[in-house]
Amino acid sequence: MSGSVTISRRIEWDMAHRLGPRCTTKCKNLHGHRYVAIATLAADTTDDLGMVLDFGDAFRVMKAFVDGSLDHACIVDRGDADLLAFLIQQGDKRCEVEFPSTVENLCSWLAARFQEGFDTLPAAAGRGVQLVELRVFETPNCYADWKVQPAS
Ligand SMILES: [Zn+2]
Repeated sequence: MSGSVTISRRIEWDMAHRLGPRCTTKCKNLHGHRYVAIATLAADTTDDLGMVLDFGDAFRVMKAFVDGSLDHACIVDRGDADLLAFLIQQGDKRCEVEFPSTVENLCSWLAARFQEGFDTLPAAAGRGVQLVELRVFETPNCYADWKVQPAS
């Protein structure tokens, strides 16, 4: 039977956000979530041990970005000038982005950040290690999925 194998690694963090005045539901308010991301990776060829990527290497990349940029931060759309000004004035940890912080937007953006990190790993070099799917939970019951475009 033919097929291909992927691996997945999970990470969690706490982060505040709001969708602001353009949003008409409760998500307009500044609030926080325990976010969960599950990254799924594939490789053109596995390593000598048969691994897509060592779980420790994958997690180190994800944790470095999450701890540095997202954990206990407020993710803020630069278009939300009032919130951005407040965070700057307070000196609070913030992650400035160019999009409303919906889980859909966050998922696509985070997929690219994680791939940039995986690309720096010597263990991934030359083997086509690639993020193929990212699932980001905003709440235990609500999540978005990003999937890589198949090569054409
Ligand atoms: Zn929310």
